[in-house]
Order: sequence, then C-alpha cells, then structure tokens
Amino acid sequence: MDIFGKSITQLRSLIKDKKVSPKEVWEYFAKRSKVNDEKLDIFITRLENSKQSNDNIDLPLAGIPFSMKDTYCTKGVRTTASSKILENFIPPYNATVYQRLLDAGAILVGKTNCDAWGHGSSTENSDYKITKNPWNTDYIAGGSSGGSAAAVSTYSTLFDIGEDTGGSIRLPASFCGIIGLKVTYGLVSRYGCIAYGSSLDTVGPMGTSIKDIATVLEVIAGKDPYDATSTKKQSYSYIKSLNDSIEGLKIGIPKEYMGEGIDSEVKQKVEESLDIYRKMGATIKEVTLPHTQYAIATYYLIATSETSSNLARYDGIRFGNDRSYFKDEAKRRLILGGYTLSAGYYDQYYKKALKLKTEFIKDFNTVFNEVDVIMAPVSPTSAFRIREKINDPLQMYLSDMLTVPINLTGIPSLVVPVGLTKKGLPVGMQIIGNHFEEAKILNIAYQFEKETNFFDVIKKGREKYR
Ligand code: GLN
Repeated sequence: MDIFGKSITQLRSLIKDKKVSPKEVWEYFAKRSKVNDEKLDIFITRLENSKQSNDNIDLPLAGIPFSMKDTYCTKGVRTTASSKILENFIPPYNATVYQRLLDAGAILVGKTNCDAWGHGSSTENSDYKITKNPWNTDYIAGGSSGGSAAAVSTYSTLFDIGEDTGGSIRLPASFCGIIGLKVTYGLVSRYGCIAYGSSLDTVGPMGTSIKDIATVLEVIAGKDPYDATSTKKQSYSYIKSLNDSIEGLKIGIPKEYMGEGIDSEVKQKVEESLDIYRKMGATIKEVTLPHTQYAIATYYLIATSETSSNLARYDGIRFGNDRSYFKDEAKRRLILGGYTLSAGYYDQYYKKALKLKTEFIKDFNTVFNEVDVIMAPVSPTSAFRIREKINDPLQMYLSDMLTVPINLTGIPSLVVPVGLTKKGLPVGMQIIGNHFEEAKILNIAYQFEKETNFFDVIKKGREKYR
C-alpha cells in the first residue's frame, strides 16, 4: 500500500477498511520523519515508539500521525521551546490541545524545531539547529514554527500544531508552500502551551488540504476550563460548511498590504488568485487599514512586554537551567519588555500600545462592514536566505508587518499557497475573516482548492521527498 501523499480522510478510510494497520502507518512516518530530519533539521525530539493512547478505530483521527511545535507540554516527552533552558524538561502534564488530539486517536511523531520561545521569523533563533526550507536548503523555512512547516511540506507528518503570536504559523506555511490557520484568539485552548505573549498567542493547525485542517480544528476547538480566555462554546463544526456557495462574495484588498515594499512577484501571485475568485463570482474592492504603519511598533511593544513577564518564571530554581542560558534574541526582548513595563514607562509604552490595539480592531471592523472577507499577502517577500537577516533584527521584524495586525485584532487568517516565484520558492496568501469566522474562510479556500490547480504547489513540494 502506497501511503505517500494520502490526506487524513484517505488514510482514515484505509485504516478503517483494514487496508493498512495503524502500526504500519506509524512505522512509515517514524521512518520518513527520521530521513527528512537528517536532511532539513526539522525535529527537536522524534518519538521512537508510538504513544497511541486509544486504538478505537472510529475516532476522528484514529491512527493519524502528527507533530507539534516544541512549545506544547507533552507528558513524558521532552518540551524545550527550542531553548537550552528547558533542555531536559519533561512536562508532568499535557497541553489541552495535545490531550484532545490523543483522545481523538492521533499519534505523535515528534516535536518540531522553532525559534526559541517563539521569538523570530526564520527558526534561526533556535538554540539547537536551523531548519532548512524544503524547496531550497540555502533558504530559511520561516518562523517561528519553521520545523512544523517543513515537517508537513515533506510529508513527514500528516498535520502539525503550530503556534502564532505574530505570524509564526502563517509565515512558515507561506514560505514552505502549505496551509496554515491562525485561529480567532480563544478558539483553541492555550493551556499547556509555553506562553510567549499571552494576549496574542494562538494555537492552530498546519496541513496540506482544507478538509484536513477543518477535521483537526473540529477536534481541538472549544471551551476549556483550564484557559479562562477560551471561547464559551463547547464545540464547533467546520466540515459541513465546506460546500457553501461563494457567489456574490465581497473581497476586500487592503491597499496598505499591496503597496510600497511588497515584492512584485508576491503581489502578482495574489492578483492572479483574485482573478480566479472574480471568475468564481466574487467582487473585489480596495479597502484601507489606516493604522498598518504602526503595526510593527505596537506588536513588538506588547509582545516583548508580555514575554518579559512570562519568561520570569524560568529562574532555574524548580526546573530547567538558569537564566545564563537565555540567548541574544531572548535577552533583547527581556531588556526591551522589562523597560516598557517599568514604573514611569508603562503608561508611555505598554498602555499606549494597548490603546493602539483598539484602533486596529476598529480598522478591521470598518472594513468588515463593507466586505465579507479580506485577502492579502502573508509577508513582503518569499523565503530569504539563511543568515540574510539574522544580524539585522529590524529587517527581521519587518517580515511580520502583514501578519501582526491580525494578532493585534484577534481575528482568524488562513494561509493558502498561490504559486512559486521565478526562483522556485512558494508564495502564500492570507484569507482573513472576522472573529470566529473560521468556517467561512475555510469554505472560501475550499472552493479555490476545488476549482483551481493552485494547491498543486503542495504536491510538487512533497514530491521532492518521495
Ligand atoms: N516573528 C514574530 C516574533 O518574533 C512572531 C512570532 C510568533 O508568532 N510566535 O515575535
């Protein structure tokens, strides 16, 4: 049985019909993840033995292998957040998202490499290794969930759970040519996720088909008593909305996201996709998000303030190594965040940034009164070369200018592949909805997946690793 390239739905039927056993599936992915890890430095920890906790074949993810960014607590399995501080940390409990996946029958293959503590856009800030872009190993895979995107892109795992505070799911998904969903803040529990910026952190799936993403999201979304910021609703359904008509759909294109500083090839790929939507019966309208120019400053003030507070718990007293193990990027953020939260500066910086956050919400609300959905590039460029930006933090931060406004607003954004540059690197596009409109944006992407061959980028990418 050739398992290669099968989606979650396809693999589930094969397992159900006993054409392939969960054990064979596990062995297949254990081997693939090892081989691809050796080529691209994808994983921090790979599991030697399957940890399937429930072998009921009727469960929604029975026997389906997956990976997780190494920022989720997994009982008995080392969790490092890609930092040497947590080099030997074995969590005594499970993150809610992990527990839900185990309860649904899914099997963990490994924990993926990322920028330490989620700080970065290229995975170069990992204390362990730099994940290479599967399309060209001289290039970064994106970050901070770079290992996650490389794992999915090379078919080392069927799906991955990434984490997005300012673009960490979307940037690597775009750079590696896969699908990534940043959910509405609070839709998926953050309990057991190593905190970066608590008011911005979100937990979401990365995968290779819209139906797969919808399937995983149904399992992980919903209220969790362990996370006070989680949604009130117990459960959500996404698959049933996948066939709604998009005739008459109003799409907004923010002019600030298509202007100066955005690479012409990136713009061109987005425009080509918009033409397809036009053919499918949608209308396109230019809209404006006037506070965009303040996004990087606002985001980096809030994110560094919150991380300086969250990282205070790593004092090396009860667990983990001492603070001398913090590397440059974490130190930079601890210093910046400590300063902006200190007496006298709190009002001037942190509080001001929080006020601006409200302005971002207003900007998006105004736009959502005019259109149903927003489409935009993910990042000003496609993937860049390893070490190209590592000594220039500001340039690195600017890669996030089109993703951070979404986190400041708390809304969902789905990244889908829309083509390749002349150099053969993937380009993604964001489909952005209002709060809790995941069903709507998934369906909008699903129609695109059905009607076009744009998603062939995914197949082409993994074919190199067959
Ligand atoms: N690149 C952004 C940062 O460094 C986003 C990271 C993330 O989403 N975890 O803060």
